[in-house]
Amino acid sequence: MISKKMESLTASSSLIRAMFEEGKKLASIYGAENVYDFSLGNPSVEAPEAVKEAAIKVLTETKPMALHGYPNNSGFEDVRLYLANLSNKRHGTNYNERNYVLTTGAAAALNIIFKTLLNAGDEVVVFTPYFSEYDNYIENYGGTVVRVAPNTETFQPNMEDFASKLTAKTKAVIINTPNNPTGVIYSAETLTKMADILNSKQAETGNPIYLISDEPYRELVYGDTKIPFVPDFYKNTFVAYSYSKSLSLPGERIGYVCVNTAADDFELITDALNIANRILGFVNAPTIWQRVLPYIGELSVDVSIYEKNRNKVYSMLRELGYECVEPEGAFYVFPKSLIPDDKEFCKAAKEFNILIVPGSSFGCPGHFRLSYCVSYDTIANSYEGFKKLKEKYSK
Ligand code: PLP
Repeated sequence: MISKKMESLTASSSLIRAMFEEGKKLASIYGAENVYDFSLGNPSVEAPEAVKEAAIKVLTETKPMALHGYPNNSGFEDVRLYLANLSNKRHGTNYNERNYVLTTGAAAALNIIFKTLLNAGDEVVVFTPYFSEYDNYIENYGGTVVRVAPNTETFQPNMEDFASKLTAKTKAVIINTPNNPTGVIYSAETLTKMADILNSKQAETGNPIYLISDEPYRELVYGDTKIPFVPDFYKNTFVAYSYSKSLSLPGERIGYVCVNTAADDFELITDALNIANRILGFVNAPTIWQRVLPYIGELSVDVSIYEKNRNKVYSMLRELGYECVEPEGAFYVFPKSLIPDDKEFCKAAKEFNILIVPGSSFGCPGHFRLSYCVSYDTIANSYEGFKKLKEKYSK
């Protein structure tokens, strides 16, 4: 017998597994090139060659015990100091190794933050639509998810609803910009408003509210759009970062938590994050990949490939009459489904060998998510399918 909690989690993740199986089945019938699988967020642009070279260097040039032994649970001090200096140069911060905990990706970063912060019944505010794993991460530690209603015209945060959702029990707020599933980026103006709302609630209740900025897509930004640095806007900020998408290394599991120096209870928090990394069983981030980071600097994958895909997918969908907000970053677009029932719509898309994810999986029905981290040809060749899907609902 498995636990009651896992019974329900296992049953609810069967939808994603079913979609994966469906994709394999369609590919075996029609050929992989005739199936347009836009369902997964697995990077399609190769990691830069420099990443492989750095990994080889690390493996050949570091003394085995210095590389393979247990580091500090927060990660090698010199690597954390390296990251701090990068931030100091880029953002004018005053960080040192204390500000950083290296983690097995953003997923672990978020889990150790919630383990550190949450008492049972504490509330964590999320903006709909959102990466649905947040529910699991928050509930793992007894937290309660509080959802802000979407602003479906722009997918920018609905500030009125946000302000109304903050209570004396609010412990944290999580934002994700560039966003999965919408691709939108929160502007400096948006972050200023958000910080004002948070500061006045903190002053009213006397309890700190922590802002968690989940940033695995920070480097995937198109055109002239700039990503504001969230700790500049609000002192009680955590950044959860990952190299999964910026360097196309999701299987290697490397990322970090960065806590802003001015955050309330900074010392206690950084000590607790260190312990949380250990006791949740992550122990420490993989040491080879920790040691790779100083060789990589601010390198990222060739973002122009995703930008070309973004341009193609957005113009194709608009030309065919799909309504969507133009994504400015990440590799997702979140159009309106052509019927209110988004699950039914995604089922119908399969008739044309198109695999997309219903918006209800992100807490926002009536939409669908399309991941364009696929080949350019997959997008171009899906045109007829999307056209037929549109025609099906235009009759
Ligand atoms: N947060 C968001 C919004 C994501 O989309 C993902 C992965 O797709 C993660 C966190 C987890 O990333 P990682 O692979 O670094 O754990």
